[in-house]
Amino acid sequence: MSDRPLVALVYQRPGMPWMFEGAERAGVDVVLIHRPDPRPDEALPAELPPAVVRALPLDIFGDEAGSLAALEELHRERPLAALVTALDVAVPFTAKAARSLGLPGLSEDASVAVRDKREMRRRIEKAGLNTPAYAALSSPEEWKLAADLDFPVVVKPAGGFTSLGVTRVDSRDDLEDAVSSVWEVCSRHLGYGKDSAAFEGLVVEEYLDGDEYCVESLSYGGETRIHTIGYKGRPEGPYFEETVYRAPAPLTPAVERSITEQVTAAHRALGVTDGPTHAELRLRGDKAYLLEMGARVGASGGSHHIVESVTGVDFAGETFRIAMGREPVSWSRPVVRPGVGAMYFVPVGGSGRIADIEGLTEAADDPRVDRVIQLLHPGDRVLPYPEYSGYPGFVLSHHGDYPDAERFHQGLDASVSVTYE
Ligand code: ADP
Ligand code: CA
Ligand code: CA
Ligand code: CA
Repeated sequence: MSDRPLVALVYQRPGMPWMFEGAERAGVDVVLIHRPDPRPDEALPAELPPAVVRALPLDIFGDEAGSLAALEELHRERPLAALVTALDVAVPFTAKAARSLGLPGLSEDASVAVRDKREMRRRIEKAGLNTPAYAALSSPEEWKLAADLDFPVVVKPAGGFTSLGVTRVDSRDDLEDAVSSVWEVCSRHLGYGKDSAAFEGLVVEEYLDGDEYCVESLSYGGETRIHTIGYKGRPEGPYFEETVYRAPAPLTPAVERSITEQVTAAHRALGVTDGPTHAELRLRGDKAYLLEMGARVGASGGSHHIVESVTGVDFAGETFRIAMGREPVSWSRPVVRPGVGAMYFVPVGGSGRIADIEGLTEAADDPRVDRVIQLLHPGDRVLPYPEYSGYPGFVLSHHGDYPDAERFHQGLDASVSVTYE
């Protein structure tokens, strides 16, 4: 048997390679915990991804107790050194499982604070950090709690992901209807109204009209180091499909200071002391407001590409090392930012049954492109926003300077498209 440490990697999509490659570099064997009934874009390939020695189907949401018991049995057979996930919705289960096996990991309390946007807002506000006026609703009938906010506002699920249901509302007259249609989407996709729903509720908060940024950080023993601050565009809604991510973003000193302060303090307020985080913020004037902070490698591992391109740090590998309670190998060096990393989200550009995705093969030939990931294929169905049916794909690249990344993305806007039957 292998003498490498064994780590359980929870619900990692096989098509997103960075976490598997990070495990390989960190020298760990992986048991891949996957859904018993994987969706088309999550299906296990015939040959397991790098580092994976075993695949174990567990229904962590539908049967938490059974899943914890199965992990305990696995742990008795061959001890686990850690559990890791890059999937936001799996963070609370992963924390709970680590606790029950006596392994290092996020506290359960922190795992709820980073998943439930109501709890996140309460804690961020209590810590004196920038907070838009907001209301937390536990049923659609409570919509009036949000009627006194300044419009426009944004209505979103308390425990959502990838902008599912997130909707901008411009006037008070539309609030009741918008709240009930977001609740509808949550009933269909997040199990609202059933026992299985985690974090059933909505947040309504004032719309922040400035630029959007993503921040990738690593923490170890309570010390947080910001690795990259990237530009995410200036999405205006009414629905919020992600489009671009380029780092390091050009920033004025005032904005950089605000982002750094808010993100550093958010780690303390939410109780995240160890491991990676992916934070999203928007500006109002020069002030940065946290939208959310995930305690995981962002973009299903894609944030590794950004951090690695910009700083050279092995972000995914460090995640495994920290999860096992080890000091990250880059910790003895300061974070420097000599490169530019970019990620392009292929826009869904419509809905229905996909006929073709054009322009990706050509993009892969560009020497600046490190990887093209295609998750949806001809024949797959795409639901219209604000419902979520998965990203068609991503183009990951590196550049000599920021303007080159910007021009490259503008080129992809013209050359890449999804067509429908
Ligand atoms: P999710 O967990 O679904 O990603 P977010 O809170 O990150 O939810 O919201 C998704 C997107 O919606 C954000 O990336 C941002 O573009 C937009 N958004 C969310 N809240 C606000 C807000 N208060 N003001 C402006 N835009 C917002
Ligand atoms: Ca999220
Ligand atoms: Ca988000
Ligand atoms: Ca995101």
